[in-house]
Amino acid sequence: MSLFQDLVIAYRVLADYGIIDAYGHISVRCPDNPNRFWMARSVAPELVTEADMMEFDMESEPVDARGRSPVNERYIHGEVYKARPEVMAVVHNHSPSVIPFCCSDTPLQPIFHMSAFIGLGVPNWEIREAREGSDMLVRDNYLGASLARRLGNHPAALMRGHGAVVVGESLQIAVGRSVYLEQNARMQFQAELLAGPGGKITFMDEKEVAANVVWQEYGRFWNLVRNKYIRKLEEESA
Ligand SMILES: [Zn+2]
Repeated sequence: MSLFQDLVIAYRVLADYGIIDAYGHISVRCPDNPNRFWMARSVAPELVTEADMMEFDMESEPVDARGRSPVNERYIHGEVYKARPEVMAVVHNHSPSVIPFCCSDTPLQPIFHMSAFIGLGVPNWEIREAREGSDMLVRDNYLGASLARRLGNHPAALMRGHGAVVVGESLQIAVGRSVYLEQNARMQFQAELLAGPGGKITFMDEKEVAANVVWQEYGRFWNLVRNKYIRKLEEESA
C-alpha cells in the first residue's frame, strides 16, 4: 500500500463513476510535510499512473517538474490546503448531476444517509464576484483563494457553471464524498420531478446529519474499490 497507489486508485475510481471526466483532478497533502501536496500531471484521469505524480508547494507550483506539465487548475488545491490545515485530500470535478444545482436557486440538500455531509452546507462559488469575463477556470492563486474563502469550513463547494471542489480529512473521505455528492444530486432531481412543483420532499434534518457525519468515513466503499483497482492495476502492469 502506498500514497501514490491510493492516489492512482482515486483517479481511476472517480473516472469510472463519471465524477471526473478527462479534466478532473485529485490531490493529497504530504503526510510528512504539510506544506506540500501531490497530484497527477496534466493527463486524463483514466490514464494516470504512479509515474505521473508531481509534488507541489503551497503556491501550487511544481517542486520538480522534470518536463511534465501540471494541470491549469492546480491553484484550487494549494489555496484549500493553505486555508484548511485539517484537509488531507482535495477533489476538483465536473460532476454532471451537480452542475444544474450550481446554476439554479435550488440548493443541494441531504436526501439520503450516505451524503449526510451535504447537511453541513455546500456553498456555491460565483467566479464573477472574483473576476468578470474569466474563461471559468481557476488559473491563478487569486481565484483559488476566492474559491477557498467561499468553501470556508464546509466539506464541498459548488462552482457556478463549472463543477465542484470536495475536501476530506483523508483521501477516502474526499473520494467518498465526491461519489455521493453526484448520487445525491441525481436523487434529489428525481425526487423533485416525482414531487412536482410545490410537492413535499423530506430531507435529512440537522440532528440526523450531525449523528451521521461524526462516523461516516466511507471505509467499506474505499475497501471495495481499492481491492478492485489493485487487481486491475496489477493486470495492466503484467
Ligand atoms: Zn475544472
